[in-house]
Amino acid sequence: MILTYPMGPIDANCYLVINEITKEAAAVDPSDADAVCSILKEKGLTLTHILLTHRHFDHLAGVAALKQRTQCRVMIHPLDKEGLLDSETSRATMLGGILTPCEPTDLVQDGDVIHAAGYEYRVLYTPGHTEGGVCYVCDEGQYAFTGDTVFFEGIGRTDLPTGNMRKLMHSLFDVILQLPPNYVLYPGHGESTTVAHECVNNPMLRYRGNPWFN
Ligand SMILES: [Zn+2]
Ligand SMILES: [Zn+2]
Repeated sequence: MILTYPMGPIDANCYLVINEITKEAAAVDPSDADAVCSILKEKGLTLTHILLTHRHFDHLAGVAALKQRTQCRVMIHPLDKEGLLDSETSRATMLGGILTPCEPTDLVQDGDVIHAAGYEYRVLYTPGHTEGGVCYVCDEGQYAFTGDTVFFEGIGRTDLPTGNMRKLMHSLFDVILQLPPNYVLYPGHGESTTVAHECVNNPMLRYRGNPWFN
């Protein structure tokens, strides 16, 4: 079961993956520790993993407190690790927040397979919005957490430090859109979508010759 909770400074989606049998949960991009803790308490869940899609404060503001309170594992790509440690890199300062530094427990790479809350995830390296962006794909559930790479009929911005439109387009066309068309995409902001919907309706992705791609 996947529950979606927009939270934090600019309403990023935090996803909680819940295993009803073991009562374990994994959190994707938790930006508000108190909000996550009250959900865990209400539902009687133990948080075992935090999966981070990228370095930005609006996706990881709650990580340090959650790790301290639950002793959960914290996973991020090495190229975005600095976002857990540095206010400038995470953009905490720009978003008006205070970053409590936090060391990740695991650095994830393209192709890694993770087991969290009883589910299996493949890590896909998808830079472009940031240089260490990743997606987490659950083939059994036929879905992926895609962070700020792709949104419902939109794509992630590339004007922030380490953003790169060419890399983003590669990540979108050659990685994310190569997933089976029925896979559900859970983005970092806004409503969920599917691979097929974005292939047909996303104005930035309908054809590879779009003006951003050269
Ligand atoms: Zn971002
Ligand atoms: Zn974001």
